[in-house]
Amino acid sequence: MRDTQSTKLLSELSRPGRRGAKIGPLDVPAVNIREKIPAYALADAPLPLPELSELDVVRHFTNLSTLNMSVDSHFYPLGSCTMKYNPKRNERLASLPGLLALHPYQPEESLQGMLRALWELQGMLAEIAGLHAVSLQPAAGAQGELTALLVAAAYFKDRNEDRTNVLVPTSAHGTNPASAAMAGFKAIGIESDREGMIDLNDLDRKLDEKTAVLMITNPNTLGLFEHQICEVAKRVHDAGGLLYLDGANMNAILGIARPGDFGADMMHYNPHKTFSGPHGGGGPGAGPIAVREMLEPYLPTPRVVKRGETYSLDWKKPKTIGRVRSFFGNVGILIRAYAYILSHGGEGLADVSRYAVLNANYLLAKLRDVLPVPFSKGCLHEFVGSASELKSERGISAMDLAKRLLDYGFHAPTVYFPLTVKEAVMIEPTETESRETLDAFADAMRTILSEPVELVQSAPHSSSVNRPDEVRAAKEQHLAWSDLSVTASKESIGPVSPSVASAGERA
Ligand SMILES: *Cc1c(COP(=O)(O)O)cnc(C)c1O
Repeated sequence: MRDTQSTKLLSELSRPGRRGAKIGPLDVPAVNIREKIPAYALADAPLPLPELSELDVVRHFTNLSTLNMSVDSHFYPLGSCTMKYNPKRNERLASLPGLLALHPYQPEESLQGMLRALWELQGMLAEIAGLHAVSLQPAAGAQGELTALLVAAAYFKDRNEDRTNVLVPTSAHGTNPASAAMAGFKAIGIESDREGMIDLNDLDRKLDEKTAVLMITNPNTLGLFEHQICEVAKRVHDAGGLLYLDGANMNAILGIARPGDFGADMMHYNPHKTFSGPHGGGGPGAGPIAVREMLEPYLPTPRVVKRGETYSLDWKKPKTIGRVRSFFGNVGILIRAYAYILSHGGEGLADVSRYAVLNANYLLAKLRDVLPVPFSKGCLHEFVGSASELKSERGISAMDLAKRLLDYGFHAPTVYFPLTVKEAVMIEPTETESRETLDAFADAMRTILSEPVELVQSAPHSSSVNRPDEVRAAKEQHLAWSDLSVTASKESIGPVSPSVASAGERA
């Protein structure tokens, strides 16, 4: 059970004069700080930092860490995010002193091993993409999108083509239109048809000589393969545009379909989703991009190159868009991806995708009678259920389901995304889950739907906070949790079921 100490803020635990470490007497001549630092840069009084013992701090963070759900502690079926188990072997490899202790300012001769691994990773990612060249620099999928769009802008500028528009399906991740806007393009939405695919008629209406890029996620955010992708690519290319693949869903098609083969000219990977980078808490991630040959001159510098048996950083690319991140990218994440790809091998990667698809279809089959799935034909690695009927008939929303699952020890699925499905519940089990886990999750969903509605509507009952006001929490970060709770207290809903009580003790 949670005691009140462990959910207090550091500022609430603070006591004047309490310290974690004692600093010894000064053994150098004292300096008057006011002579060394300009007055405008000095505070009038010491900052009101919390004053705590080391044990206070250790307990605070250790207890907080146990309130979290993670892939290592709980099933985490977060659609679109591919929260798979990240093998500890890759963590160990990335922590080898020969990799971990490198400094990016070391001379290249002393970085040969690292540069070789990065060079080889570029080749592997190009091969998996079916594309020509790779930049490992972007620090996240979203930055990969931005980088690729800047590359496209440089390409069109070089060709004296004035193309201002980026087309984005309405089911796309929000980063797609945001990246288009940041790169200076105008984002234009494309509707989906009744099967959840790109509406070709709407595409034709919006494609013209102003189209720079169509951004597509394939498989799309409904977990469906855009089976018209070759036709879509042809129409975009006929209009003189480029096709961008948002690679967040590569976990469904590794070694089975290659974006370059189905018409993509550029793409990003999310190694923290697909290739075992630790994921969550805001990073670090990585977002390598792969592009077709004619776009290579514009890629960010430096590029990792091999001349003879020597690896080096190539800065001499006259048409490059320049740097998008410091050094060579988030190398720690890239090394994990390298280890993951090497340890699976080609056939192993294809198996990753086959099992991811099998697991999603298994869950889909177990759940569709209680949670309608509007677009389920040809589901790949994830599916999107709709709580729309549940909400209108029984008052149970997607949010209620997600919150109640926490009481059963499952991380909530993605909810309310994609926007094209009402009351969306987006479930992606990934290939690393056992059949027993999938069965337990399906059982929990069914149990929840047989429970009294009030119990579900007021969940979670096992966590330290109930339903915080998320907007306020984001905007007023100094608030204590107790200030943010917006729903009824636990006492008002009566007893909870035994499984919930035990989940509560664990959580
Ligand atoms: C996660 C995701 C992104 C953004 O990637 P980040 O690495 O989080 O920046 C873009 N598109 C889709 C479909 C995603 O799921």
